[in-house]
Amino acid sequence: MTLYVWGYSLEYEKERDDILDAVDSVFRSGRLVLGPSVQAFEEEFAAYHGVAHCVGVDNGTNAIVLGLRALGVGAGDEVITVSNTAAPTVVAIDAVGATPVFVDVDRDTYLMRVDQVEAAITSRTKCLLPVHLYGQCVDMAPLEAIAARHGLPILEDCAQAHGARHHGRVAGSMGRAAAFSFYPTKVLGAYGDGGATITTDREVEENLRRLRYYGMERVYHVVSTPGYNSRLDEVQAEILRRKLTRLDSYVARRRVIAARYEEALAGTGIVTPKTAPGNDHVYYVYVVRHPERDRIIEALKAKDISLSISYPWPVHTQTGFAHLGYARGSLPVTEEVADQIFSLPMFPSLTDTEQEFVIDALREALATV
Ligand SMILES: *Cc1c(COP(=O)(O)O)cnc(C)c1O
Repeated sequence: MTLYVWGYSLEYEKERDDILDAVDSVFRSGRLVLGPSVQAFEEEFAAYHGVAHCVGVDNGTNAIVLGLRALGVGAGDEVITVSNTAAPTVVAIDAVGATPVFVDVDRDTYLMRVDQVEAAITSRTKCLLPVHLYGQCVDMAPLEAIAARHGLPILEDCAQAHGARHHGRVAGSMGRAAAFSFYPTKVLGAYGDGGATITTDREVEENLRRLRYYGMERVYHVVSTPGYNSRLDEVQAEILRRKLTRLDSYVARRRVIAARYEEALAGTGIVTPKTAPGNDHVYYVYVVRHPERDRIIEALKAKDISLSISYPWPVHTQTGFAHLGYARGSLPVTEEVADQIFSLPMFPSLTDTEQEFVIDALREALATV
């Protein structure tokens, strides 16, 4: 059987009774849309982050779309972010009619070069969108200083950073708003699609609630267009409530796996992830680097280990974003690391035996490349 970078079948076996009970309790309640489970999850997820408000939505992409709209970002505006991210970050900016403006990333952490942000600000900039990629946070203090100086809101993309901390602060509690995905592989994953936008700001919350519900303020009265149908499902919300109580234990297990990789791969030539000062990494993806990346992936494939690359093509080099007008070479570090990075299996229910198998296969592959 192929070993993938992500897997949750063993986790399901362990949690099956609880998950099925969650599903059954919703089906029996007769409240299938925007009922008590969504409300309870929103309260619990907000409390976990120490923020006042959470609005559950249908996926992480729309968590960003609604977050941007709720912050007043729209057509003709610019949003500063990175090209080394999952495409949906940028798809969401595009979807509200705004223009993404990219800064480069740091060669060690692969995260936003905050020192390049101020130079990218124009009179059209409306929002700063840091992505806490792979499970650790962007350097927030200097970004917050820039945001304050220019009166710009920060929307954190936390789709890969559930439970991560930055100088003691939880990812998602630092911006005016923050967007989460509960796609099944994420650190907090649903059994289907889901997302949430959290915020400290009452007005942003009200905007979010309207926007996810067709733009209606009261039932059958639309006050803002275009609105969306972007609701979090009751079933997913109830499953997420159960899993939220285990989030810190998932993260703890991910850290154990990361520590084993780091120890086993020291001195092999594979560059393991570097955690920036003040960060508690949650290792959503365990991204390593090696100049012979493609040959290593091939060698492991022969052993039924299917590695992946997050991400092989920086967003600005993808066909669908050609209209943004970024030439090759415009984001040199982003482009350089994209040719060398790859991801090792990383999920809480990865067994020690499976990890040992991966490590042995890597050692063997490195002896031949
Ligand atoms: C997964 C992800 C998203 C999108 O989430 P979906 O739930 O798949 O829509 C956005 N940004 C980042 C960084 C992601 O990893």
